[in-house]
Formats: sequence, structure tokens, C-alpha cells
Amino acid sequence: MESDRYLLHEMAWQDISKIDNKKSVFILPIGSTEQHGPQNPIGTDFLIAEHIARKTAEKSPFAFCLPTIPVGVASHHRNFPGTLWVTHKVFEEFVTDVLKALHYHGFDKVIAVNGHGGNTSSILNAISYCNDDLKMTCMLFEWWNHPDLVTSVFEGQSCGHADAVETSVILAAKPELVHTDRFENLTSSSKWGREIGGLYLPSRTDQFSSSGIAGSLEGISLEKGQKLLETAVSVLKQSVEEISAYSSIE
Ligand SMILES: [Zn+2]
Repeated sequence: MESDRYLLHEMAWQDISKIDNKKSVFILPIGSTEQHGPQNPIGTDFLIAEHIARKTAEKSPFAFCLPTIPVGVASHHRNFPGTLWVTHKVFEEFVTDVLKALHYHGFDKVIAVNGHGGNTSSILNAISYCNDDLKMTCMLFEWWNHPDLVTSVFEGQSCGHADAVETSVILAAKPELVHTDRFENLTSSSKWGREIGGLYLPSRTDQFSSSGIAGSLEGISLEKGQKLLETAVSVLKQSVEEISAYSSIE
């Protein structure tokens, strides 16, 4: 077995059969294929999640990166060409079944690395089921939602949709896919969604943002994007080490 293999889909079953079930942590990148403004690829969410997941597995002796789930819950972006989506119900069952397949092989320590907010509740439902009913140890890592990760690199800014933060991060992960020549003419909705009577009204994105962008466009930076990815990988690597050493849940 080549000991430098960390992408599960590049390994043969004979080598996978030798994996140490107790120590190994399986990293599952999950994202979405949905519009990310005129400047970014529609794969932005899964490409960032995949980048963080693969880099972390590469640096962690007991981590393996699973193939990416590239389509999620994104019907609110449907009026922008190319956006793909599945329903909450199908997505939750799909993620649950993938986790159950891992459990069948004895692979019970899993970190879902999610790049898309619309997926969060479904992933948490899937994880809760697997931890409670199958005694797995599954967790969720979201770079854009992890305490202080974004604000520490972007000086207090939080992450919107296809805004300066997310554009900087995809620029660092996949520079060849970002249309930097379009940065000058971008427009954005100042915040995500709409409100009526002070209450949040779930809406399609095109109902509040003609470009598909929400949040500030000030300060797009390749350097900050790189810094965020490096920090995310080191934070996740630390989690992998602790979860690898963890024995079981009662
Ligand atoms: Zn996104």
C-alpha cells in the first residue's frame, strides 16, 4: 500500500481494507452547484469545501478524503442559469445513506466539510441520526461559519454570498476560474434575503439581488483568501487529530 494515499476514490479496496478504523477520520466535502455572481464559477461552494478537505487530509496521517457531494439544496438560486438543486428530503436521505455506507465498513469517524448554508440543516439531521442510532462520531465543519475564522482574517467582516469574502477565497482556491476583469462593475444586495414587518421572508435570490451577490464587495483580496484557506486547514487538522485520538462515545 502506498502510504501517501489520502483520497479514498484513488485507492483500491484491498488497500482500504487495511485502514485502521479506530484512528482514521473520513472527511466528506459537500457543497452546491449554484450561481455565485457574474465573477465566480457555479461550483464555488463545493470547490472551496473540496480544497479545504483535501489539503487537510493530505497533511493528516489518519485522515482520508471522500469524493465530493457537489449538488445540494439551492432551489432559491434557480433563476440563474446553471444552478442545480435537490430537495431537502432527498439531500438529507442521500447524506444519511453515504454515512451509513461508511458505517457498514466500520468507518465511524466522519467530518462533513460543508460549503453551502442551504445544506446545513439537512446535514445536521443526517449526522444526528447516525450519531444517535448508529453510534457514529460525525461532525460538521463550515469554514464560513466557524467561530472567528472569517472575522480574524477579514478584520471583522462576515461572509455573505459571492461577496468580497467568498470571492477572495475562491480566488485563492481556483484563481483560473475567477473573472477578475468583472470586479469593477459588480453590484450587490447589502444583505441576504428580504423582510416584511421585520421578519425574514425566505425568497428566491433574484428577488433581492439582480447579480446574485449579497454582502459587501469591499476588499476582495487573494492574500486574505489564501490566509483563510491556510487557517481553515490548520484548524480542521487540529480537529482531525483530536477526533482520531478520541476513543468512543457512550
Ligand atoms: Zn457560496
